[in-house]
Amino acid sequence: MIVDFKEGSYSYEKLTADAKSLANQYSEILKYVTIGKSHDNRDIILLKLGVGKQHMICCGGVHARENINPIVLLRIIENYAELYYKHKEQKQEFKKQNNFQKVQDKDEYEDILYGACIYEILQTFTILFVPLLNPDGYVISLYGFDAIEDPQLRELCKAKNIPGEEWKCNARGVDINRNFPSRLYRPKDPGDYAASENETKALIFLFHGYRSKGFLDFHSRGKQIYYYRKAMSDTYNNKQHEIALRLAGVTNYVLIPPEEEVDPGDTGGNTVHYYSEHFRKPALTIETVDEEAAFPLNIRYRDSTFDELKLIILEFGSRIL
Ligand SMILES: [Zn+2]
Repeated sequence: MIVDFKEGSYSYEKLTADAKSLANQYSEILKYVTIGKSHDNRDIILLKLGVGKQHMICCGGVHARENINPIVLLRIIENYAELYYKHKEQKQEFKKQNNFQKVQDKDEYEDILYGACIYEILQTFTILFVPLLNPDGYVISLYGFDAIEDPQLRELCKAKNIPGEEWKCNARGVDINRNFPSRLYRPKDPGDYAASENETKALIFLFHGYRSKGFLDFHSRGKQIYYYRKAMSDTYNNKQHEIALRLAGVTNYVLIPPEEEVDPGDTGGNTVHYYSEHFRKPALTIETVDEEAAFPLNIRYRDSTFDELKLIILEFGSRIL
């Protein structure tokens, strides 16, 4: 196993090293690509998993302090890749001997079935994973502001008087999930403009670089799903609702009511707003961990979040074809 949940603090360096190791180990179906640089000069990584002609996009780590999802997404990549290789081997065995090895029990049967589903999805899709869109924010949330190399950016962040473990923004103090050009976008401060940030641009370029079928953005607040888009048609929202119900069905996450799409006094400009409006394909925000979870997030959330997200991604893939 490359991605180890027992690792205490999962550093940015370890995350990139693991991503490279995964791409080496599963080179037949996994590619490591850099899609941009953060303002404090860290790579923004894309991992392309699968051999399918269709594409779907999964993003994590937009908000700095929500730092459980990046490692979980990497572990899911490893899990899917492992199962893909295993299933492929089993298929070849089957062809050679003209029978599967004897299935011992129900659990084993379910494992084989799950493996077959993963194999199918990675034959159909190439899943584009951006496990950590905001690496600068991530290191602030783990190690504080001294983790920022650029002295000007470091001082700018410190001046906001927000504790490092509560930090949501990037190294320029901008909330990336309020920086996407969409109908609900409003500048927060004079001088603000949409898509001003490197991280925003990297994801926008990725969105436009592939004809993808759908997009999931993983955040961490209360096991909830945002699906409703005020700026979109009823037809679009009905489809979104249908998919959201299926994802809730495999996880027991709850759907956020339409009127709560944006918090009172807040603005849009979310990743999913941009994706919905430009491509008119399904795009949902998935909020992991309990509502009352305090920051820094307890690493015990890694295991349960892994169990939930591996099903969500699989189910989403089957719904957007
Ligand atoms: Zn968030």
